[in-house]
Amino acid sequence: VADSDDTFNEDAIRPDALMEESDRLHAGDLAKLLQRRAEFVEVSCPACGSEKRDRLWTKDGFHYDRCDECATAYVNPRPPPALLEEYYATAENYRYWSKEIFPAAEATRRLHIARPRVERVIDICERSDVRQWPVLLEVGAGHGTFCAEAVESGHFGRVIAVEPTPSNAEACRNRGIEVIARPIEQVALDGHTADVVASFEVIEHLFDPRAFVEGCAGALPSGGLLVLSCPNLKGFEVAALGVGSRTVDAEHLNYFHPESLALLLQRCGLDVLELSTPGRLDAEIVRKRALAGFLNLEREPFLKTLLIEEWHRIGPAFQRFLADNRLAAHMWAVARKP
Ligand SMILES: [Zn+2]
Repeated sequence: VADSDDTFNEDAIRPDALMEESDRLHAGDLAKLLQRRAEFVEVSCPACGSEKRDRLWTKDGFHYDRCDECATAYVNPRPPPALLEEYYATAENYRYWSKEIFPAAEATRRLHIARPRVERVIDICERSDVRQWPVLLEVGAGHGTFCAEAVESGHFGRVIAVEPTPSNAEACRNRGIEVIARPIEQVALDGHTADVVASFEVIEHLFDPRAFVEGCAGALPSGGLLVLSCPNLKGFEVAALGVGSRTVDAEHLNYFHPESLALLLQRCGLDVLELSTPGRLDAEIVRKRALAGFLNLEREPFLKTLLIEEWHRIGPAFQRFLADNRLAAHMWAVARKP
């Protein structure tokens, strides 16, 4: 996508005016979840399984640990699966997103998020010798924007949305998308297989990422591909803003980085083909936080030069540098089932 593309920015996918209300509702949802902290359970590292860890952050009453072995960060203790399910089914903020934000931002999100994702997945298929007219399965399809784009691309023999949340499954069906309304762990048991399983911004929300990856792998034949995206803990946005980053949010239970995500995929028996950080918004997000007074750059003259004084000259090149060097906060992994 061209650099002159000025319609894609943070505001277009998360309109500022609506985000204020969303933030308010989200804080209320988290406070309600925190009231049930007695039910939270301790877990080991979601990437490597180690029990060794140190406290990294505390935010909104939730504790974040970092694994001593692989440096993955994770919310610990965390809500157990049944409580998480209840949380997502009743969260006010999700209702608000369905009603206000997705409709307002749908066209932009489709053009600037779903379409590039589809193009990237097609590119991955072509580079990885996946058969023609592959079956594509998206896990956590939400409202089905990606699946709709994938169908429209004409590249796939079949496109299936895996979406256990009833209202989302219904939204997908209403767009004419084939839906399996079950958790991925049960999909392979039902005898479904796909040449490519894709999942975007899901794994960071899950109680048990390993069970999830194993579930995805279970739906793949030998040679099939798993494509995942999630935040990168070591990316610029999170590294620069720390707990002040929107990415650091109790809904995100797991914070992988390229090496630790690779480790998890390998532990699930997959061969890692690619790890990349095609993020495009780090610099802009950090700049906005600085301009809004949440990040003081007075003692960071180098960042101040990059993000404020020379922003228009250097900003886009700096973001490209981050993306090209696995330093952006949005990460993709491609793995193959042997
Ligand atoms: Zn670990």
